[in-house]
Amino acid sequence: TDSAIRELEISRLSTQEKDFDTRLEALLAWEGVSDSAVQQRVDEIIAAVKARGDAALVDYSNRFDRMSVSSMTELTLGPERLREAFDNLPREQRDALAAAAERIRTYHQRQKPESWHYTEADGSVLGQQVTPLDRAGIYVPGGKAAYPSSVLMNAIPAHVAGVREIVMVVPTPDGVLNELVLAAAHLAGVDHVFTIGGAQAVAALAYGTETVPRVDKVVGPGNIYVATAKRAVFGQVGIDMIAGPSEILVVSDGETDPEWLAMDLFSQAEHDEDAQAMLVSWNAKHLAAVEAAMARLLPTMEREAIIRTSLRERGALILCDDRNEAVTLINRIAPEHLELSLEDPGSLLPEIRHAGAIFMGRYTAEALGDYCAGPNHVLPTSGTARFSSPLGVYDFQKRSSIIHCSPEGASSLGETASVLARGESLTAHARSAEYRLRK
Ligand code: NAD
Repeated sequence: TDSAIRELEISRLSTQEKDFDTRLEALLAWEGVSDSAVQQRVDEIIAAVKARGDAALVDYSNRFDRMSVSSMTELTLGPERLREAFDNLPREQRDALAAAAERIRTYHQRQKPESWHYTEADGSVLGQQVTPLDRAGIYVPGGKAAYPSSVLMNAIPAHVAGVREIVMVVPTPDGVLNELVLAAAHLAGVDHVFTIGGAQAVAALAYGTETVPRVDKVVGPGNIYVATAKRAVFGQVGIDMIAGPSEILVVSDGETDPEWLAMDLFSQAEHDEDAQAMLVSWNAKHLAAVEAAMARLLPTMEREAIIRTSLRERGALILCDDRNEAVTLINRIAPEHLELSLEDPGSLLPEIRHAGAIFMGRYTAEALGDYCAGPNHVLPTSGTARFSSPLGVYDFQKRSSIIHCSPEGASSLGETASVLARGESLTAHARSAEYRLRK
């Protein structure tokens, strides 16, 4: 195993080193979407979809997804086709998908924010009314791999929120449909599917074409063309987030089986070369044991090459002094996924301020959360857990303020409003309030 260990390339850090901060910052740095050639390409695609509608979608699908279609009819799938995909799945897959969908729905039903109001002494009523979006657009990536779990995680919260119409887009390279993806769309309550992808699909959702209805918000992950297009249409429609590469931070007390932890780190690294997997522990012997397990298990992995690159470029094994220092690191990194592989993870929880999803204890592998635990797997990446949250029902709803003044309320508020309006020299505001004062 000695030579195998030497072959495992990963950053080894200790908080005791002088240059620890610099090294950690370098590992965490991620530039995001900032390629000007891609930007220009995406602007052209959006302009073409705005100008030529369906015809542009047909052209781009033939070009980028190697299709040979002549109209949008060939790129449209109705609810019957989705049901058929579900009904024809092998039983095991159908049951697993249905079980996951059920758990995700149950969890998200808990998130439903309620409208509320209160009545003041003078009879005025103030409140907040929660309403779902009319239409949501869900981007499901499909260029290199297909992700049925992403369909569930994006569409179910929209459905639970009460969105009237859910439109899904998914590219089908070479015209190959993924039956699991279509079956997931059926389970999640998707109304229409268009087999288009990339920037052109995002543009179609944002502006509408003859066939694709214009939506109010576009959600879902995708490659750099998709991310750049989402940023470009923001304002015309809402978007969920611009996601960076996926990450995990595992904190171990040294008692978890090193092979379990090695596989948890791999499960993140196998997503893609840019994914980030980090392990923090205050037990140096344990870190070495996990490292040995990684070196031993790596050659057995189907996606060995991707894992190797990810670990070499962005992975890390970090030795810290103690639990307190681990907490400081967690809050500084603000990881997308945080695994607390500890005897008593609950004791750490109150101190954790920034993390997308927190996996508590040795038995809670992140993979369970990715598919079927219930919570959403669309999470803030690249430290954005400092200011944002997992995708949820609330992302598909908005709030309207409610103000209903009684005559008495209008009179007392009118006096305050009049003084403030005159201070701003807004005479119409002042007089509008003053008309309603009790004489
Ligand atoms: P994709 O659907 O995002 O992109 C495919 C589309 O890209 C094609 O249809 C095409 O229109 C467009 N495209 C490709 N090359 C182009 C070019 N040269 N010019 C213009 N447009 C071009 O599928 P993908 O490429 O497989 O990427 C999927 C991404 O989604 C990956 O980065 C993956 O990591 C990410 N992902 C993230 C999550 C998550 O939850 N964070 C889940 C699943 C996938």
